[in-house]
Amino acid sequence: MLKLRLIIIIALVLPIIAQKIKTQVGQWWQKRSEQLEHLRLFKILEKKIFIIKDYVFDILDLFYSEITGPRIVSATTNPPISGLARLFTALLLKEAGIKDVTILEYQDRVGGRVHTHYFTDDPNDERRLYGELGAMRLPYIDGRPDLSVHQLVFDTIDYLNEYNKEDDPDKEIKTIPFIFSNPNGLYYFNNKKDPYDKMITKNYSKTVNITKLGYPDSIPDDYASFYNEALAPFFKELDIDFTKGLKALKRQFDYGFVDLAMEAYTFDPNFNTSWKTIDKGMQRLPNAFLPLIKKENYTLKYNCEVYKLEKTEDGQNVRVHWKNNGKKESDIFDRVVVTTPLGCVRHWDIPSTLSYQKQRAIRELSYLNAGKIFLQFKNRFWEKSPLETGGLQTTSNVGIVGGTSSTDLPVRTVVYPSYYQGLPTNGSGVLLASYTWNDDAARYAPYTEEERFELALKDIVTLHGEIARKEWIPGKENNKAHYWTNDKTVVGGAYAKYGAGQLEFLMGAMMRSEDYIHWAGEHTDIHNAWILGAFNSGVRVVKEILQENLMNDKWLKLKNMRLLKYWNGNLDAYAGY
Ligand SMILES: Cc1cc2nc3c(=O)[nH]c(=O)nc-3n(C[C@H](O)[C@H](O)[C@H](O)COP(=O)(O)OP(=O)(O)OC[C@H]3O[C@@H](n4cnc5c(N)ncnc54)[C@H](O)[C@@H]3O)c2cc1C
Repeated sequence: MLKLRLIIIIALVLPIIAQKIKTQVGQWWQKRSEQLEHLRLFKILEKKIFIIKDYVFDILDLFYSEITGPRIVSATTNPPISGLARLFTALLLKEAGIKDVTILEYQDRVGGRVHTHYFTDDPNDERRLYGELGAMRLPYIDGRPDLSVHQLVFDTIDYLNEYNKEDDPDKEIKTIPFIFSNPNGLYYFNNKKDPYDKMITKNYSKTVNITKLGYPDSIPDDYASFYNEALAPFFKELDIDFTKGLKALKRQFDYGFVDLAMEAYTFDPNFNTSWKTIDKGMQRLPNAFLPLIKKENYTLKYNCEVYKLEKTEDGQNVRVHWKNNGKKESDIFDRVVVTTPLGCVRHWDIPSTLSYQKQRAIRELSYLNAGKIFLQFKNRFWEKSPLETGGLQTTSNVGIVGGTSSTDLPVRTVVYPSYYQGLPTNGSGVLLASYTWNDDAARYAPYTEEERFELALKDIVTLHGEIARKEWIPGKENNKAHYWTNDKTVVGGAYAKYGAGQLEFLMGAMMRSEDYIHWAGEHTDIHNAWILGAFNSGVRVVKEILQENLMNDKWLKLKNMRLLKYWNGNLDAYAGY
């Protein structure tokens, strides 16, 4: 009887459960399909908007659009090249035996966006009173050059050290650890402050109610792991085969997401990545190329602003026009390598025969705003315990050497220089009081440099207490603020940041050589915004020049050099660029 009743109950209940499951699965499926459909439509729409947007403004350009393939010349190449991409290109051209190379440089220094600002006349000053306006750190994976995507940069440093060893030992580049993050660095959000490893971390959020930290309770407990989990499958693909992984990313998600994934891939959420910087300034890297340029009798002209490129009448060469300290000059070259950021090139006169896609890339490529504010102090109070300095206390009350503090105050990110590690803590020092990107950077832009110092100091006082104001050394000569968007040698942003569709639509066009003009620089490489991108692009253009001049043997020799052992331009990801 009991059995029967059970069977009846089961017989009655099972269909209800089955129906429920069916309904639930049906609802889930419908929702999922809708989501996928939305995503599909979104992608199509975005793609269309991206294409249409340009047609509206440039419909006429289409009549002139023509992809002019590079032609082979057998004459000796003497490319004038304009930062680091140009210097590295010069190095490779030297290795390939090309004798006649001219470098036209707008500034009175080499290095472009690798720019150390020294607050003393002596760059070798042991007090290390300097700040990196541009590049400041180099990533690597300890003991695994094969996995270190940026290995080419370290191999170049080795090459230059070897090259300069005998005749120019003062040009030696010494790398030292760059402390990327520090458990003692501060988190200051919603007017609450504590060391980095205590506050707003995954573990902390589990033990402390997130609302107590001023956040809405809609934030899930395990929010911190979401980002890593979402990106993990892409990183796995890139680790197995970078080019294939990149192709897959591009195919599926070229909607700004690839740029995000690539940035996160370098910054590596699993923290396999270690970091280095160059002692006494990153500027030592470009400076170390100078002996090579001199010994090779390459021409390096400072204070020369290129403003026009034109094809010669016979169409076989390029005339380059520039202003040398304001005075107009020009010369004819067989090959030209443009490594200048596209914001500058936008104002140049360039041959109208350049393809529509190339002109579009010059016009549209997105660049990211970035700004830095350096403040100088009589004492590096931040390296001492707040108990000692009278600063605001935290639960650990430990000083900070290297690493960063993060905050929702306008300064956003404070970087504590790593290069003071090991120096007596009583000394003076320069603090990167504010490193900002995007709109955060733009919000300092309208202020004078002196106003920016004061604004940044205000936030440093909030983070570290009145000691900061007491120790600050005022004056323009002792502090420095730089907003890259307004820098005339970059124009419109600190470095390329591919927007939706730009990798797919603009990258190949940006790389392609046309009319004997070759295009290099960080913006023409998937590792944009890194020194590596500039170097990679240098290898690519030298390959182009050699191959287009029927010197493939030279390219093969170059490619087999130790220096290029870990070069990977991932050119397959841009088939037929
Ligand atoms: C704020 C910031 C932080 C960064 N952080 C890092 C980092 O930590 N690690 C890292 O690896 N990379 C970093 N980068 C990126 C790195 O600095 C760049 O990718 C790299 O230096 C770019 O080299 P490039 O040769 O392509 O361009 P640039 O270095 O900009 O070289 C272009 C050259 O063209 C010259 N020029 C401009 N206009 C003209 C003209 N009309 N005529 C002649 N010459 C002209 C300029 O003076 C310059 O020398 C950072 C960049 C910035 C801005």
